[in-house]
Amino acid sequence: MKNHARVVVIGGGIAGCSTLYHLTKLGWADVVLVDKNELTSGSTWLAAGNVPQYHRSFNSTKINDYAVKLYPTLEEETGQAVDWHTTGSLRIALNQDRLQEYKHVAGKDKILGIESQLVTPEDIKKIYPLIKTDGIVGGLFHPQDGHVDPASVTQAMAKGARQRGAKIYTHNPVMNITQTPSEEWVVHTEKGDITCEIIVNAAGLWTSTIGAMVGLYLPVIAMEHQHILFEDVPELVETGMQLPLLRDPDTSYYMRQEARGLLIGPYENSPQSWYPDGVPLDYASQALPPVLDRIQDILMNAIDRVPAMNECGVKEEINGPITYTPDGGPLLGPAFGLKNFYLNGGHCFGITQCAAYGLHTAEWIIEGEPSIDLSAADSRRYGDYANQYWAHEKIMETYEMMYAIEYPGEIRPAARKAKTSPVYDTLKAKGACFSQTYGWERASWFAPKGMAPVEENSFKRTNWHEPVGMECKAVRERVGVLDLSGFSKFEVSGCGAELFLNYICANKIPVKSGKIAVSCMLNQKGNIKCDVTITKIAKDRFFVVAAAAAEKHDLDWMLKLAPKDGSVIIENMTYRYGTLVIAGPKSRDVLSKLTDTDLGSACFPFASMQNIFVNLSPVMALRIGFTGELGWELYHPIEQQREIYDALMKAGEEYGMVDFGLRAMMSLRLEKGYCILGGEMNSERTPLEAGLERFVNFNKGNFLGRQALIQQKETGLAENLVLMTVETDDADTIGDEPIFQGNEIVGRVTSGGYGHTVGKSLAMAYVKSEFAKPGTRLDISVLGKRCPAQVVPTAYYDPENERLRG
Ligand SMILES: Cc1cc2nc3c(=O)[nH]c(=O)nc-3n(C[C@H](O)[C@H](O)[C@H](O)COP(=O)(O)OP(=O)(O)OC[C@H]3O[C@@H](n4cnc5c(N)ncnc54)[C@H](O)[C@@H]3O)c2cc1C
Repeated sequence: MKNHARVVVIGGGIAGCSTLYHLTKLGWADVVLVDKNELTSGSTWLAAGNVPQYHRSFNSTKINDYAVKLYPTLEEETGQAVDWHTTGSLRIALNQDRLQEYKHVAGKDKILGIESQLVTPEDIKKIYPLIKTDGIVGGLFHPQDGHVDPASVTQAMAKGARQRGAKIYTHNPVMNITQTPSEEWVVHTEKGDITCEIIVNAAGLWTSTIGAMVGLYLPVIAMEHQHILFEDVPELVETGMQLPLLRDPDTSYYMRQEARGLLIGPYENSPQSWYPDGVPLDYASQALPPVLDRIQDILMNAIDRVPAMNECGVKEEINGPITYTPDGGPLLGPAFGLKNFYLNGGHCFGITQCAAYGLHTAEWIIEGEPSIDLSAADSRRYGDYANQYWAHEKIMETYEMMYAIEYPGEIRPAARKAKTSPVYDTLKAKGACFSQTYGWERASWFAPKGMAPVEENSFKRTNWHEPVGMECKAVRERVGVLDLSGFSKFEVSGCGAELFLNYICANKIPVKSGKIAVSCMLNQKGNIKCDVTITKIAKDRFFVVAAAAAEKHDLDWMLKLAPKDGSVIIENMTYRYGTLVIAGPKSRDVLSKLTDTDLGSACFPFASMQNIFVNLSPVMALRIGFTGELGWELYHPIEQQREIYDALMKAGEEYGMVDFGLRAMMSLRLEKGYCILGGEMNSERTPLEAGLERFVNFNKGNFLGRQALIQQKETGLAENLVLMTVETDDADTIGDEPIFQGNEIVGRVTSGGYGHTVGKSLAMAYVKSEFAKPGTRLDISVLGKRCPAQVVPTAYYDPENERLRG
């Protein structure tokens, strides 16, 4: 056995073998994989092998599509058969909301060039002759979907990797992991130690066990998942017909042809976790005892849908453990706080998704970044709140709702109140409807008296539309308060702090205390990794604010780039400070009643900070905001939040001050054309494409990503971010809708909603540069309907920023 390698991959399931395969494909041969048993002996062994292209998210569709393209090629490349079958797959809809979901997905598929067709009940009968179409209102058909033999495809990738020089050591458990003083990793296996530069934890069911060896808690728990193979269906035997895979997500199952029989895989609503404290190390290649009771109703329903199964007995019952994370996405990328330790685990659709996740893990290692934005899979999307108990509760919900309709901005009930700010109860009593981000409960909107603060889910405008409109109006005309305590907050200090921040930020870091700079942090490719507001609070001390969900990611990004000589200290202040936003033309009047500080623009200009007192409490007041109105972000000791909030509310009474929520903030920011991280800003886009050049300072000297931006400026932009008005009746864009000029797709919506002040449906979108001029008329497909749309100036509301600077 080799005792030194550049990379050691732990785990020989599909995730590990795909990582190894792609590392070698990208040119690294000094790579090793170890498995405690045979290859595929974890979840991979038991999988059904369905490989669909369908996904609600844009990049996850790309992920799925990669497998559909790669798997059929592997036999020719490696000599190992993988048993790939292109069967197509059909999703039926039993209600109009589901159909709307399909229409949205079909629009997104068009952008990606993925073949999918919306089908009627009559089409469905032709595609799936054995189906009873009662109650079906339509469906979605993906003709290129297929299935593969999970073990064979894993072996094929292992073989491909070996052919390019990789070494695989099976029956060799990893017992521990340590680090040398020179920061090399030592993987202690039963057969000896392997020293390496980089580790990939691809240990599937044991992802968290391996994580614990290096001090990480990883929220991955195994769930029992069953699929039942029925005896041959006479019609299939007689006709030899090949059926596509059938999914009835409203009843919650898939049904696949296996030779001449059918196999049903349900997602039941009383799921069962399996060894939530950690899967025993000696588990391998064993099915668990089946529990038909849990899935009986779904099976009966499925048989009723395909009556030809009526006489077919059960041939085989398979119950296998499958890994889940709280949101059902995997844990990928660099592990928080560890150098050269990568994750590729927690997969619940691993046979489909590990083809691409292996590629992107290899890119992350070799090229420093994956070629697509993977923030939805980045393990750092979870903070410490995602402990075992929280994760378990959320995972039970996620499994149960595996096939549920994913409504835009849907608020799900499990594992709530992980983090609440001191005003939570007060806001709740005032009718707040809360959503959750990174464990934080944050007010989405406020239900007026007589209305329950509960969202009615819909792809169209729904019960919160009017109340949100009232909140927007109040902020634009009077004044509103919003609790944004979930913001991530860091202090970066030390004699090297300014130099460091100037290197990792595209904008110039303020030189004078009390000045604020808005900036992106970029990667080497010039793409956006973080979006921050930086305030110089004293000599060599900077206060950095980032999105709530970015806490661990941004902290890790900064810590890993910071010099190790003690000249820069980075502290997480998130839980020390609360944040109250006060915004609106009357915000100065309200705040002035509570402070001696002169808040006039001459003394307290836009984009500046002062330490003030609000009533009794010390507050760092930043004159900035996301609504486009005069306003302040008030950062205060968290324990003084109630006192400040009550004082603000009392002072605001005479001005008609209201509470407002995130939905109103999103509407207000759209009218201003402000970008959001995860929508317009992500690691596939540069600030130049996002129209943020005013926040890039090329003159300040070198910064991370500068060279790439200069090159992009020279080459010119292929696409630009635009704001568009959309002529719709009752549905707004939510992101990922295709934009057409005639029949040509020329862009993609990144986020959208209704602009209550301007009285128009608005969409932000990247379009080919030749279509980015204000006035350009295009069409946007909203829930399958072509809607006329027009490019408007990016700051549609108050383009001169007069109100902001007022
Ligand atoms: C019944 C069932 C049906 C499924 N159907 C589908 C489907 O149709 N489509 C789909 O896409 N997905 C499906 N899945 C999910 C899919 O099987 C998993 O997502 C995928 O196999 C996960 O692969 P993995 O490599 O991450 O983990 P695993 O397959 O669990 O592999 C982990 C490997 O790590 C090794 N290992 C662990 N600890 C150590 C250690 N200490 N030292 C050395 N080696 C170690 C293990 O031996 C194992 O081989 C199904 C799963 C089940 C159970």
